Amino acid sequence: MSDAELVLRSTRVITPEGTRAATVTVSGGKITAVLPYDAEIPATARLEDVGDHVLLPGLVDTHVHVNDPGRTEWEGFWTATRAAAAGGITTLIDMPLNSLPPTTTVEHLRIKQDVARDKAHIDVGFWGGALPDNVKDLRPLHGAGVFGFKCFLSPSGVDEFPHLDQDQLAQSMAEIAGFDGLLIVHAEDPHHLQSAPQHGGPKYADFLASRPRDAEDTAIANLIAQARRLNARVHVLHLSSSDALPLIRAARAEGVRVTVETCPHYLTLTAEEVPDGASEYKCCPPIRESANQDLLWEALADGTIDCVVTDHSPSTADLKTDDFATAWGGIAGLQVSLPAVWTEARKRGHTLEDVVRWMSARTAELAGLTHKGAIEAGRDADFAVLAPDETFTVDPAGLQHRNRVTAYAGRTLYGVVKSTWLRGERIVADGEFTEPKGTLLSRTR
Ligand SMILES: [Zn+2]
Repeated sequence: MSDAELVLRSTRVITPEGTRAATVTVSGGKITAVLPYDAEIPATARLEDVGDHVLLPGLVDTHVHVNDPGRTEWEGFWTATRAAAAGGITTLIDMPLNSLPPTTTVEHLRIKQDVARDKAHIDVGFWGGALPDNVKDLRPLHGAGVFGFKCFLSPSGVDEFPHLDQDQLAQSMAEIAGFDGLLIVHAEDPHHLQSAPQHGGPKYADFLASRPRDAEDTAIANLIAQARRLNARVHVLHLSSSDALPLIRAARAEGVRVTVETCPHYLTLTAEEVPDGASEYKCCPPIRESANQDLLWEALADGTIDCVVTDHSPSTADLKTDDFATAWGGIAGLQVSLPAVWTEARKRGHTLEDVVRWMSARTAELAGLTHKGAIEAGRDADFAVLAPDETFTVDPAGLQHRNRVTAYAGRTLYGVVKSTWLRGERIVADGEFTEPKGTLLSRTR
């Protein structure tokens, strides 16, 4: 460790082997060693002693809609990555839709990368998109470094990103399986959505009835069947319906290669508490009942659900009308995702180590980011410094999101992020940001 440039010390460092008092040495942006707490510090190294604050690996959020370029009035790389940094997130992977162009060809990917390059306060990667007419673009996109491909099985909400029917799903999945890529899926069945009652208006109960659980369950059953047939790697995005858990468990038990994520809003907000007309709570699939939420937590605990990601998908305030049928569907929660999940997790008897596993280790693994997601020698020196027992009340004015509309407004949460570190550099502390130091990531696996 004689060449360490930076040394971080905490009485509570979360490592893959558990939480312990430790000294973490950093050189060239990488963690070089995790040493005993009282290890000798070389005279040339800068010591950052964070005391009893927890040192945890920077979070990896694999589901963010940045919308840049094209819908930058909704969100953009500058604001999204600052919000992420403020929330302890050091890596995000951008979804292929809501930007113009969507990330569906190599040329479009390059446009997105050019826009992101100078604005990224954290490391940024990209998902590609699978559309009915771009099967020929999937392999080139894979070669260009996207982390996998997103598709919808029902309308996406934007015209330029059409969904796949079952035949098109099979075609895209076969192509992606041909290079052992990853297909990530918005799983709601369009026929079940069509036959559900569509009343519109401000009542949350009507909105919930319009996106029933069986739409998710059926789409997931079909997805599993196709993945089994093609031996493809698939990932279920933003699981909300707990009714789908038994079939996911069964599929995994028989070796189908399916992974699953859920989101902070499904884990911390409930249908019962959504005020009528409050479309800041609208997302698809919807936030469901508290009994459903209990089962999602059980599935996280037993490993059926692999990870927790934000699905941060904001819009301008004018699109968040009081009609749930027509309001933009998407919840803004990037900056508060860690404290939101931690607050509910601690109430339910889970540890901060569990939260780190769900929001950093497993998401890094999902994306094949073997140099992220853990505090151990050889990984990037990405950290969040957290005061887990301090509370704060979410004030939208304090958010770095471009639009300060959030379902978390007014909530008192545990967990204050004191500083965030990216490859050995402190990028934010107490609300003060450095210039952007993020890099653009490409798939390495
Ligand atoms: Zn999404």
